[in-house]
Amino acid sequence: MPDLRRFAINQITTRDWTLEQAVDGYARQGVAGIGVWMDYLDAAGVGRGARLIRDAGLFVPCLCTSAWVNIADKAGFAAALAENRRRLDAAAEIGAPCLVVVPGGLATGEKDLAAARSRVIGALEELLPHARQVGVKLGLEPLHPMYAADRSCLNSFAHCLDLCRSLGDGAGIVADTYHCWWDAGFLPGLRQAGPENILTFHLCDWLVPTRDLYHDRGMIGDGVVDFAGCKALLDEIGYDGPFEIELFSKFDWWLRDGNETVAVSVERCAPFVRERQKVPC
Ligand code: ZN
Repeated sequence: MPDLRRFAINQITTRDWTLEQAVDGYARQGVAGIGVWMDYLDAAGVGRGARLIRDAGLFVPCLCTSAWVNIADKAGFAAALAENRRRLDAAAEIGAPCLVVVPGGLATGEKDLAAARSRVIGALEELLPHARQVGVKLGLEPLHPMYAADRSCLNSFAHCLDLCRSLGDGAGIVADTYHCWWDAGFLPGLRQAGPENILTFHLCDWLVPTRDLYHDRGMIGDGVVDFAGCKALLDEIGYDGPFEIELFSKFDWWLRDGNETVAVSVERCAPFVRERQKVPC
């Protein structure tokens, strides 16, 4: 039997399943955790969703995602902050230790990326006291630079690590192989971050060619990412946290039966999610 105690499936991987179906489908195949998305949680009801997850005995590595704050007008920006506080509360209710920060890129019509980034930093600084109060960390996830204009202007591992350090308590890193595998600062950055600042580790392969930037992510082993190398480094630095497969796959895995996607996810991820191999002394 594979050791799946650290293994979660991010529910977008089984896009067509409701929260109820995902909780049941993952638990039945021995998966220990579920990465939850806000829209599925809202559809179930936050309190009811929390009970479903708790009753199934699943852990929750993260809640996806923060609401976008790439809004230039004051009222819209304030509304986005309020929505983010609601999501932090929801994360606390389902036992998620972090809310994954995907803050948006440029505002409509904007061309000043530096201004967009400083607006995001301002938003995170405003959210930090609430995050601390409810015990949910802001999970800074570097997104691939081709997402900079429209999804997230936080794009390199080094930038997110700097930001994490400047925010201090209440912030951490969400590492994702799909977004970071190309980044020369990825593996050194994991080491610099240290296990205490890595909140969860998203597993996803980079296909060659990638046919759709947003929805053609690869099953573990089907692309070019060195998962064995990542696991060895994470073991070495003492990372004991979760591993979470997260597939957006409109040409392949979203078209299959969810049970098959879960079974193949377990099979492919098992070598990379087991307990840490302690270095003999
Ligand atoms: Zn991710």
